[in-house]
Amino acid sequence: MSEQTQAHRATIAAEVPPNPEVIEVRKVVNDVAEKVNSIGSEIAAFREHVGVTRALLIVLESIGVWKCGSCKMNMNGICGGWRLPEDLSSSLKSVAGGDAVIQQDNVYRLRVDKFPFIGAVCPIHIHR
Ligand code: SF4
Repeated sequence: MSEQTQAHRATIAAEVPPNPEVIEVRKVVNDVAEKVNSIGSEIAAFREHVGVTRALLIVLESIGVWKCGSCKMNMNGICGGWRLPEDLSSSLKSVAGGDAVIQQDNVYRLRVDKFPFIGAVCPIHIHR
């Protein structure tokens, strides 16, 4: 590059003031870029929380399956340890499916395979 070209580049200058609308648009674009970066960080943190929650659920389900599988109150997959009120039964059915709760002798009881984590938090487990 010749000395003449370098001198030309060093002295370039605008002859008119910058368009204020363009400056405003650039500011908005910068603001949006900052917000997108911020959202990206939040999504990364959220993903990490989801990963931890998934791992916790896997552990709870493993413990739950073992506890219900070894519990005297488990009668062919139906938990005989808990009597569910009708409104809770309806809520559970809407979340886990119509066969998640069954009625036996006018008592609502849950199917343990529909709630694999339940044994992990159950305080009335009785080992066979
Ligand atoms: S551990 Fe609790 S939920 Fe599971 S079968 Fe026994 S009483 Fe029912």
